[in-house]
Amino acid sequence: MQDNRVPNKISTTPLTHGERYRSVLKDKKPRVYQKIQEYLADLNSPQRVCSIDIAYDWSCNMQCTHCFTTLLQDKTRRASKFTLESLKKVCDEADAMGVFAISLQGGEPLFWGDLEDIIRTIGPDRFTISIVTNGVFLDKPMAEKLKALGVDRMCLSIDSGNAREHDRFRNYPGSFQKCMEAVDHCLAIGLTPHIHTVVTHTSLYSDGFNYILKYSKERNLGITVLIAIPAGEWCGNTSDLITEEDAKYIQKLHEQYPLLRRDITAVNNVDTGCRAVSYALYITAEGEVLPCPFLHFTLGNAFVTPLKDILAKGHRVKEFHDYSPKCLAGEDKDFIKKYMSKTFGVKDLPLKVEDVFSLDPLE
Ligand code: SF4
Repeated sequence: MQDNRVPNKISTTPLTHGERYRSVLKDKKPRVYQKIQEYLADLNSPQRVCSIDIAYDWSCNMQCTHCFTTLLQDKTRRASKFTLESLKKVCDEADAMGVFAISLQGGEPLFWGDLEDIIRTIGPDRFTISIVTNGVFLDKPMAEKLKALGVDRMCLSIDSGNAREHDRFRNYPGSFQKCMEAVDHCLAIGLTPHIHTVVTHTSLYSDGFNYILKYSKERNLGITVLIAIPAGEWCGNTSDLITEEDAKYIQKLHEQYPLLRRDITAVNNVDTGCRAVSYALYITAEGEVLPCPFLHFTLGNAFVTPLKDILAKGHRVKEFHDYSPKCLAGEDKDFIKKYMSKTFGVKDLPLKVEDVFSLDPLE
């Protein structure tokens, strides 16, 4: 199989948050640091994936307007759900495959009663652990507890720097203020806060987004800009997608805000392009393994199939195996028309990858 990935492009920007983050791992989590070195020495291995997003449980304290998980949730209530045992199986396999980063998401992880057991089962000594949160429950005692458990980074979802706008998207009065306080609590105890924010073609130029940019710079916070995707509650909505001009504008912002990144920004000095399958996977609460949270095509079920076989199947899909400089789900117009459109209006997602894509023959 021809490999069209573009490896090892050296970043010319100042120390980005990814590199800053990595530099402390050598002492703090030597096993993780070692796995990163092994990855850098063998960039093109299709047997390797670096990061896994795990939506362990869909339970959440909010009902956000743009939640992308609603259509993924099993409506029949018959599918198996993650247990600590299946989580251990998945994480043991991920560790053996060289995965070095686990991002815990939901739902709202801080809303789950068994979060401590979940973190211990993942194993903070063998992975960096990030938690994606709406911040409402992230008070100082919670931040201290998570830091002591070995969590590395708290990713706070902020939709707008305008408090009223953010609270309206979240259908949760006071949630913006809670997020701001959560950042303060994390900084006070030395747990890294990071901002996740979603932009549309319009909101990219809004006061709300500009406020988040300035705030992140003032507080020296990493910020991940996620672009609008026509999936979940935005399923089929292509009018809010960013344009090529918008993408260039975000790229330009990076000069002014070096800690700003997109999902396609080089990590560890490696330009992976779209990370789906080549760098990361996403696992739903029902164990379905998707190329990324926004590509609602399942490659297999991690509760019953070894993760390495699922990854190998992902590499048989040319669109995921090959390097793409654009976000497939939200930016690549051809991909959206040809493949994402198959999910529009479908109530029972994810679709099986083999029902939508051609798979390369087994070698
Ligand atoms: S499709 Fe977009 S969101 Fe998904 S991995 Fe690729 S760049 Fe990231």
